[in-house]
Amino acid sequence: MQAFQYKKANNVDSAIGAGSTAGMKFVAGGTTLVDLMKLNVERPTTVVDINSLPLTKIERTSDGGLKIGAIVRNSDLAHDAMVQKEYPVLSQALLSGASPQLRNMATTGGNLLQRTRCYYFRDTAYPCNKRKPGSGCSAIDGFNRIHAILGTSEHCIATNPSDMAVAMMALEATVQLRGPKAERTVALKDFYLVPGSTPNLETVIAPGELITSVTLPRVADGTRSYYLKRRDRASYEFALASAAVVAQMQGRRVQRVRIALGGVGTKPWRSTEAENVLQGRDASEQNFNNAAEAALQGAKVTHDNAFKVVLAKRTLVRALKVVTEAS
Ligand SMILES: Cc1cc2nc3c(=O)[nH]c(=O)nc-3n(C[C@H](O)[C@H](O)[C@H](O)COP(=O)(O)OP(=O)(O)OC[C@H]3O[C@@H](n4cnc5c(N)ncnc54)[C@H](O)[C@@H]3O)c2cc1C
Ligand code: SF4
Repeated sequence: MQAFQYKKANNVDSAIGAGSTAGMKFVAGGTTLVDLMKLNVERPTTVVDINSLPLTKIERTSDGGLKIGAIVRNSDLAHDAMVQKEYPVLSQALLSGASPQLRNMATTGGNLLQRTRCYYFRDTAYPCNKRKPGSGCSAIDGFNRIHAILGTSEHCIATNPSDMAVAMMALEATVQLRGPKAERTVALKDFYLVPGSTPNLETVIAPGELITSVTLPRVADGTRSYYLKRRDRASYEFALASAAVVAQMQGRRVQRVRIALGGVGTKPWRSTEAENVLQGRDASEQNFNNAAEAALQGAKVTHDNAFKVVLAKRTLVRALKVVTEAS
């Protein structure tokens, strides 16, 4: 691990002030950053501890949505009564991730910015365009069973590993950012970048910008939601494929639906293609299959991950059945 300077920020202004240093990283729960520092993948020269910032509340917004502070721990968010009642997909996604100990440390902001689990990214002995731009991608011709099939490029096929972000994508969340000069709000659908020729750039966040909160819009009465995750082990494992579905029904008709996939995309993958197939149609097996076909139509497989196409389709169909059958 490279030596670094440690600073503790006690308020948002001092965090942002400290954060303007080149080579700076904020640390929240540390469950991604510290791991990667030990592996020499992340080499910050300054680490700004943001755990004392007053960003720990889950609050009702004026229009009936929820504002989640960036330091709210994954466990607290998953067990919050408003989240469990109105946004079950988010609670389920959080509880499907990591382990209880990790969720007690992991924060909302840190979860959004966790890095890929691509083995070659995490091992500095291998070339990796994301870690070292222009060095090559070891996964494309390597072992790529866990890698992405949607949004890939010839430079990177790494999957985004977050479960929480997939649920938030289907809930149409927005992210509030504070930088040295201004505050801004970015829709989560615009927050993540596909790798293209610059896989080292993963989000639109600018150097020194702090995530202060995530806002979920109000859900209409009667909205149902569900998160389904498929993985190699029943717990403490990242998704091979997952689906988040948020739906409003009118009898057996799907009035409105939002769909996002995890474990298969280079970013948490919202599928408007699948939504368009289902919206206004009957909740039938045939329509679910058509939606799953549409969601995976652009899939590009590599040597070891063709199984993900079938797995993701089945995961989405199953999630749609559960949501639309809920009473
Ligand atoms: C063994 C293991 C298993 C796991 N399994 C899963 C899983 O199944 N599903 C899943 O989704 N996740 C899983 N995770 C990942 C875990 O959810 C993340 O490590 C965690 O959410 C990161 O949050 P953190 O607060 O610890 O982030 P940190 O490690 O503190 O930070 C992560 C990154 O975010 C930046 N950052 C943090 N907060 C802010 C902020 N407010 N503003 C700007 N930048 C910020 C940091 O600079 C850093 O770059 C697993 C992790 C481990 C170690
Ligand atoms: S898939 Fe991306 S993260 Fe993995 S080795 Fe290739 S460039 Fe690096």
